Amino acid sequence: MGNKLVDLRDARFAINDQLKISELFAYEKFSDYSDNEIEMAIVTAEKLAVNEYYPINEVGDKTGVRFEDGKVTVPPEFHAAYKKFCEGGWTAPAEDYDFGGQQMPTMLNYLAQMLFFAANQSLMVYTCLTHSAGKVIDIFGTDEQKSKYLEKIWDGSWGGCMDLTEPEAGSDVGAIRTKAIPNEDGTYKIKGNKIFISQGDSDLTENIVHLLLARIEGDPEGTKGLSCFIVPKFRVNDDGSLGEHNDVVCTGVEHKMGMKGSATASLAYGDNDNCIGEMIGGRCKGIVTMFNMMNEQRIVVGMEGISMASSAYLHALDFARERKQGVAFGQKTGPQVSIIEHPDVRRNLLLMKSYTEGIRALLLYAAKCLDLKEISADEAERSKYGDLVEMLTPICKAGGSDRGFEVCATAIQVFGGYGYCQEYYVEQLARDCKITSIYEGTNGIQANDLLGRKIVMRDASAFAVLIDEIRSAISLAAGIEDLASYAADMKRHVDQFVAVSASLRARLKENAYLTYAWATPYLAVAEDIAVAWMLLWQAAIASEKLRAGGASEADAVFLTSKINTAKFFVSSILPQVTGRLDAIERNDDAILKMEEKFFID
Ligand SMILES: Cc1cc2nc3c(=O)[nH]c(=O)nc-3n(C[C@H](O)[C@H](O)[C@H](O)COP(=O)(O)OP(=O)(O)OC[C@H]3O[C@@H](n4cnc5c(N)ncnc54)[C@H](O)[C@@H]3O)c2cc1C
Repeated sequence: MGNKLVDLRDARFAINDQLKISELFAYEKFSDYSDNEIEMAIVTAEKLAVNEYYPINEVGDKTGVRFEDGKVTVPPEFHAAYKKFCEGGWTAPAEDYDFGGQQMPTMLNYLAQMLFFAANQSLMVYTCLTHSAGKVIDIFGTDEQKSKYLEKIWDGSWGGCMDLTEPEAGSDVGAIRTKAIPNEDGTYKIKGNKIFISQGDSDLTENIVHLLLARIEGDPEGTKGLSCFIVPKFRVNDDGSLGEHNDVVCTGVEHKMGMKGSATASLAYGDNDNCIGEMIGGRCKGIVTMFNMMNEQRIVVGMEGISMASSAYLHALDFARERKQGVAFGQKTGPQVSIIEHPDVRRNLLLMKSYTEGIRALLLYAAKCLDLKEISADEAERSKYGDLVEMLTPICKAGGSDRGFEVCATAIQVFGGYGYCQEYYVEQLARDCKITSIYEGTNGIQANDLLGRKIVMRDASAFAVLIDEIRSAISLAAGIEDLASYAADMKRHVDQFVAVSASLRARLKENAYLTYAWATPYLAVAEDIAVAWMLLWQAAIASEKLRAGGASEADAVFLTSKINTAKFFVSSILPQVTGRLDAIERNDDAILKMEEKFFID
């Protein structure tokens, strides 16, 4: 058995055979890459994840973050692992060479991150947020801001964080009250409070660069009046050295159900009237500035969820082979057999395998779209991949996190009573995973985004681009005798999905309130369609490979496993979309009638 984080045999099949990462080497940006470099990077990432990140994940959960005398300390073991992560160049691998990046294809970067997230979500969140902050500066910063902050952020010596949430402003970002008051020198005095800020403070790095949303006095209410500010924990002198402590004070850390090694801080800015920030991205452009990055970050959060799920699945698989209960099916006596022999356990494992492999492939596909929307020479192609990224963002975020949590919960089920106990790792994975459906825009907000924005975008043409891609995979599978009936089933479900989507678009104009009540079931349908799309596509490739002959015994087992996984998902899980779509189409108004007063307590 390989590592217990990510099945790299499967991931290599996805990036090489299905998504053809080598096609990217033809582009100038990735011309330094070859199959060899890709393989070296995967092996290096695996070693770091397995040897440094994974062994300290449980320790981090037990020790947790401490807040004493106004200072936040991370689990001590995190420091050495983080140093190795930075030394390995993993803080900004996909960024341009200019400030120390490696211009790595996003697909490869995602695969490496899947290993790291699976190994230690708490520790990865620090680097992840640092990357987000760096990316905002990279895209929107002035040359001066880039040279002041970017090198230290990309090499990991400074951390970064994204400061949006306030007690009265969670999903409702427009309700932010933090103020920015212009100074004569062009800087701003920041005044306000934020909560729930990941890496809002910690001792992991020598400085922390806050990217913060605030409103300049007199600017409009709501999101359109927000601007974005860079607020360093320690001010930066002209020569790049650290200056005095800015007036950003950590007032506490949250005690969470999971991700205990990740500092989630409450912050007060300007209590001493001396918190200085500099604007980035333009006045009242805060949402555009922040959300440019947050959209990609949403895909990354889906990746967090499915990476922990991947580890939960591999741990459950191991356990199901080891744990013996009951005798062979249909026998009254005999030796105890491994629980993997029992049909219900086998079904649970297959469900976990399907979601893990299907959503992993979807994320890697989204990574390829992210690169092609930037580097393709053809404008129509850039637009196509841009549309796909828009469509896939809520599906990846919610699919990775909701299905990821479902996989972690199923892993606990496979472990039985042991799974419910703290000594068994899957319990931690489930706790750590839950947050992914909440932060970076709750999955309720993702559902609203898919229904209210994405499927109506540009007269539904972005939706049509996605459906065309799905139909190409169906055609591929339809041409293979063994898969033809599964392709026909899939086509029927996709046809129903397209018809119901058209009806929802019309209903949004007639009765938006009732229509939005279907947003979450509709998103769940989109997730299952997307998983079936990836699995069927992979099965078609696996069938072709088997038919070509020459596969080793191990390869034949792997390829047959891919085909069986797709058949299981399309025949046993995908039909659930029909029930959901029927309910959406029926559009019963019980939700409308169920006014607040009928919820009797
Ligand atoms: C561990 C952790 C780390 C975090 N890290 C960060 C960070 O680094 N930076 C940062 O700025 N924030 C961070 N957050 C905050 C996080 O983004 C918010 O918790 C999240 O956006 C939800 O806001 P809320 O908690 O106020 O919930 P609310 O907005 O009050 O939502 C409560 C419920 O109502 C639903 N709801 C609310 N509005 C709507 C609507 N319009 N339509 C449908 N449903 C709706 C939600 O889906 C949810 O189910 C973090 C939170 C946690 C717990």
